[in-house]
Amino acid sequence: MDVTYLLDSLNSAQREAVSAAPGNLLILAGAGSGKTRVLTHRIAWLNAVENISPFGVLAVTFTNKAASEMRGRLEHMLDRPLGPMWVGTFHGLSHRMLRAHWQEAKLPQAFQILDADDQLRLVKRLVRGLNLDESVYPPRQVVWFINARKDEGVRSAHLDTPRDDVQVQYQRIYTAYEAACERAGVVDFAELLLRSLELLRDNAPVRNHYQRRFSHLLVDEFQDTNEIQYAWLRTLAGPQCSVFAVGDDDQSIYGWRGARVENMHNFREDFANVEVVRLEQNYRSTGTILQAANALIDHNSGRLGKNLWTDAGDGEPISFYTAFDERDEARFVVERVQHWVEQGGRRDECAVLYRSNAQSRVLEEAMIAASVPYRVYGGMRFFERAEIKDAIAYLRLVCNRDDDVSFERVVNQPTRGIGDRSVAQLREVARERGVSLWQAVPLVSGRAGVALNKFVSLVEQLSASCGDQPLADQIESVVDASGLLAHYQKDQSEKGLARVENLEELVGAARVFSPDSDAIEALSPLEMFLAQAALDAGDAQGESWEDCAQLMTLHSAKGLEFPLVFMVGMEEGLFPHQRTLEDPSQLEEERRIAYVGITRARQKLYMCQAENRRLHGRELFTVCSRFVGELPTELVDEIRPQVQLSRPVYQHPERATPSFLQEQTPYTIGQRVHHNTFGEGVVTDCEGQGKNLRMQVNFESEGQKWLVLAYANLSPLS
Ligand code: ATP
Ligand code: MG
Repeated sequence: MDVTYLLDSLNSAQREAVSAAPGNLLILAGAGSGKTRVLTHRIAWLNAVENISPFGVLAVTFTNKAASEMRGRLEHMLDRPLGPMWVGTFHGLSHRMLRAHWQEAKLPQAFQILDADDQLRLVKRLVRGLNLDESVYPPRQVVWFINARKDEGVRSAHLDTPRDDVQVQYQRIYTAYEAACERAGVVDFAELLLRSLELLRDNAPVRNHYQRRFSHLLVDEFQDTNEIQYAWLRTLAGPQCSVFAVGDDDQSIYGWRGARVENMHNFREDFANVEVVRLEQNYRSTGTILQAANALIDHNSGRLGKNLWTDAGDGEPISFYTAFDERDEARFVVERVQHWVEQGGRRDECAVLYRSNAQSRVLEEAMIAASVPYRVYGGMRFFERAEIKDAIAYLRLVCNRDDDVSFERVVNQPTRGIGDRSVAQLREVARERGVSLWQAVPLVSGRAGVALNKFVSLVEQLSASCGDQPLADQIESVVDASGLLAHYQKDQSEKGLARVENLEELVGAARVFSPDSDAIEALSPLEMFLAQAALDAGDAQGESWEDCAQLMTLHSAKGLEFPLVFMVGMEEGLFPHQRTLEDPSQLEEERRIAYVGITRARQKLYMCQAENRRLHGRELFTVCSRFVGELPTELVDEIRPQVQLSRPVYQHPERATPSFLQEQTPYTIGQRVHHNTFGEGVVTDCEGQGKNLRMQVNFESEGQKWLVLAYANLSPLS
């Protein structure tokens, strides 16, 4: 291999890190400074110069996507397959180890991995089997509890003495769960890590083997390792081992999942003679984007502190667009993407980043409407999410009782004691008689029949309650009365909260649903909505080979880079997220997420706020995210909203409103106005633009009225 090439494409600090003598090294550096690049070059260097065999190298990173990218880059650099080198995620590598040592790990040779859904189903069965009330011991909560304990390395036998009866029962379920997994020969995700850690810790021959084997451990995204991952690394690193850890404390965004940024501090104490290398030159972004990122993160306390600079030019200012509502925001994004493509760019150079999954729906719809191929990355598209499919299945049953697929999906969701056996029996009867499952229900007798009949009455009830209500109210009452909402509300984890938000978002979607003008008249609004949903879930997502715009959450954008980046939904309560507002440390994590978002951009960054937002089924008048206010004014170019009306903007308590956010428009929401006929009132809403701009005014004597501004003869009062 050409060693000069390896070093030539690096700056001096990077070179120092890549070519360092064996020993422990911590690369502490900001976004886009070449950490991942240095890590891959280090592996190539070890191989080419230090003659370290691929057999002796283990490299671990955070996501499967990052791992496969790293593998690709290495194969390219080494110009051959990686062979025995271990490159993967913590879970992937633990799995590999357990496969090789299934006997020592006391697993059956053909052990299977339990995915999140399987795990939940198993826990449900156990809770019921122990005769526990699911409302007191929600299975999702139990799963969360078990996984969190495993991530701390705590088995059921080692739990603290329970303080109350609830804890006693949690302990019992955990014990039963471990036994059930053992019997079935299955391991869940958290178990992969815990089991391989225990294997290394308790089995000296295995530990010695790996400690001797791996002379080099390399870890990317080190700031997001959790307790058990850190312990795994410590155990794997033998006395002769060199650990090469790269990370950025400012990008630690998985605190809610147990990541411990302290690991970066601890590393220097727990490992011998750690040398620290700082990389300060950013190669990714324009000067403007970098300055904005630096200024933002400066608002956090307790940072390790870094000084990032670039010799790239300033580039374009950051554009801040105040959209009238979320659809205007989505339209703006699509328009900008189209413009980028017209200028010769590719769609996959554009990334739209959002804080919460539910935001993708409106963006997806705008992409579909404009025929822009897109891909929702690292997450599912809205209508494919399990909770949305559940809700849709109920709604379809309301419209068509003979929809067997929907029937099967929700007959026992949420659980109502209709087991697989009952459903099998029902299927059999339906097949014999050649009728739908629904029609077969009266033909099933015994306990199964009773339970099935209850389900039938529930659907009848849902159908009756829909009545003549507006579409959104129909959906809201089905989501609620079917028990789905309560079911998902029991799960207090991040994922559970996101599911509830998505259900609320479905109601929101219905609220603004307007069928195509050429819609078939014979269909009810609900039927039209369902047809639309089915289409949206269909083949609109671009093929893997197609050039697609990329939609993803800010979390899944970590480590990636794009020439053009949109950060949408820059609003208080959305980003920073509502539930972090009260807690300074959570707020700092939100700010790090914003830092990650900004630093994904190479050439151009857009930020957007929707002044009115319907999200999770509620309509909000938003205030601008504090993170926008924290950017230096001179870096931000405000794109004027098309609507000549403004709302008060967010004002940081200690800071003046940045001038680019100041409004000079004639009316604001909340403003008092006078009308020749109706007298005095207060502006409460607005819609449309230009000569079509309409305002809603709440008049003292006449109540609420919509007025077209161009004809209304209103005058503002101070
Ligand atoms: P993040 O913190 O987001 O994970 P990072 O520190 O891992 O970022 P990389 O992704 O390795 O940064 O590098 C950022 C970009 O800068 C990449 O496109 C990379 O190829 C480029 N780059 C890094 N170092 C150099 C260099 N010395 N010369 C030219 N380009 C470089
Ligand atoms: Mg990186």
